[in-house]
Amino acid sequence: MFHGIGEEGQRKLGQGKVVIIGCGALGCNIANLLVRAGVGKIRIVDRDFIEYHNLQRQTLFDENDVKNQLPKAIAAMKHLEEINSLVEIEGIVADVNFSNIEKFCSGVNVILDGLDNLETRYLINDVSLKSGIPYIYGGAISSFGMTMTIIPGVTPCFRCVFPNIPPPRTMPTCETDGVLGTATSAMGALEATEAMKILVGSDFINRDLITMDVWDISFERFPITKKEGCPACSGRYDFLGQKVKIIRSALCGQSRAVQVVDTESEGIDLTQLAGRLTGVTNMTYDEYMLRFDVDGCSIIVFPDGRAIIRNTLDESAAEKLYFKYVRT
Ligand SMILES: [Zn+2]
Repeated sequence: MFHGIGEEGQRKLGQGKVVIIGCGALGCNIANLLVRAGVGKIRIVDRDFIEYHNLQRQTLFDENDVKNQLPKAIAAMKHLEEINSLVEIEGIVADVNFSNIEKFCSGVNVILDGLDNLETRYLINDVSLKSGIPYIYGGAISSFGMTMTIIPGVTPCFRCVFPNIPPPRTMPTCETDGVLGTATSAMGALEATEAMKILVGSDFINRDLITMDVWDISFERFPITKKEGCPACSGRYDFLGQKVKIIRSALCGQSRAVQVVDTESEGIDLTQLAGRLTGVTNMTYDEYMLRFDVDGCSIIVFPDGRAIIRNTLDESAAEKLYFKYVRT
């Protein structure tokens, strides 16, 4: 019935394919709304598992998911399939980096941002421009959120507006400032609406940088322009080309944790790893992850070969543990 969509638009939604990168609070809301809207195929990529304190804002998950220690991409897929069985949902448990992002974005009409970190956004921007797939940026922290829509070759890109990654620890994070579930829900709703507009071919695509604060009730739009000499707009994809073997990163939403990714790893057989680990305690594993404690840290290993080392913020110590116990 809605004039902006109509029967023809609803058909187009049904033929639409999107990828949501990150299934935390933003990703949960985007996925929920797009599945209910009847978007044909939704791929969800997330590297994390669900923790109790996520439930305040990550609206697809419940206490059973925490008890069952499910990865977010898998739990999201299960809940979404129960919401609308006509939508094809693909949940992928993986860290998104230069080595796999093009594969995850292939064959989709829109890339949606459900991320909690800036680095991956520059990577998505590169892939969006390189492949010509629209990218809907969105972020939220505290009671505040921002979004912009990038149509390759038409609008300014993410790097036109935010030319460089700010130095570490200069930006607020979920740890320092928290994040309201209502802020992420509001931003997720805006992102999902933009995706629907792109899929139905609407002329009303957002051309501004939108900011919103749900606590002091402000909503503003700032005109943005293409930046002269923007590397990404000129076809130089710095972030996609930044190939490193080991990626270490502190994780948002987990109080003290470092993720270690070996981008050349072809995966790890968790059963074999469980069989050869010695000198560790509290080891448990299932098809999705293997957990154990050692040297005062909790280590969680995923089949794609990466590990999350909890109870430390020391990235080099985390990498040492990774090579001592996981990639021996
Ligand atoms: Zn640009």
